[in-house]
Amino acid sequence: MTTNASAPLILLLGAPGSGKGTQAKRIADYLQIPAISTGLIFRQNIKAETELGLRASRFISKGEFVPDTVTNPMVAARLEAPDVVNGCLLDGYPRTLEQAHYLRDALAKRDRDVDLVIELVTDEEEVIKRLLKRAEIEGREDDTESVIRHRMQVYHQLTEPMATYYADQDKLIQIDGMGTIDEVWERIEAVLAEAGLQKAN
Ligand code: AMP
Repeated sequence: MTTNASAPLILLLGAPGSGKGTQAKRIADYLQIPAISTGLIFRQNIKAETELGLRASRFISKGEFVPDTVTNPMVAARLEAPDVVNGCLLDGYPRTLEQAHYLRDALAKRDRDVDLVIELVTDEEEVIKRLLKRAEIEGREDDTESVIRHRMQVYHQLTEPMATYYADQDKLIQIDGMGTIDEVWERIEAVLAEAGLQKAN
């Protein structure tokens, strides 16, 4: 695997509730690169009641993906921002093969490519328990049991096959996402080291 150590472009995959968001922040802090979470951008827009938020909300509340016509240009615009020059971590994007192709083309225009894809592999029933607990704390509109189960289904159907696309390019590393936040982080740190990515000063 060749990794662009000076400006790494990393993807973080994982089923809903896999702890993606938490680990994404850790990776971003560690490497001093921005973490770009499409889910978070949508939630911020929903909260601020923007046009984008209103469009996204209809899909998110049902556990459906926001259409690519909304999501792809939003990501492309974010990738134009100056802070991405030194690399970035994408959390929750791409989620489908179509999005992966879109990302490839968007990056190719800048002579860039995805360097490393980390997938957090988790136990589904355990994760559903986690999410229901989070629902009590955060009150996310997509954290009811039926919507969670639907999001899991969509993950298996659309996102897992996408992981194969990166596996075929020798970019996918699957790690055990179960255990404490620190245990999972240690595994991620080892993967980053293996890819030649060290803690930024
Ligand atoms: P997340 O915070 O990553 O769990 O995302 C929450 C929700 O936002 C998802 O269930 C989708 O409805 C929507 N979403 C996030 N990322 C994407 C994406 N790449 N494509 C389509 N919808 C997305």
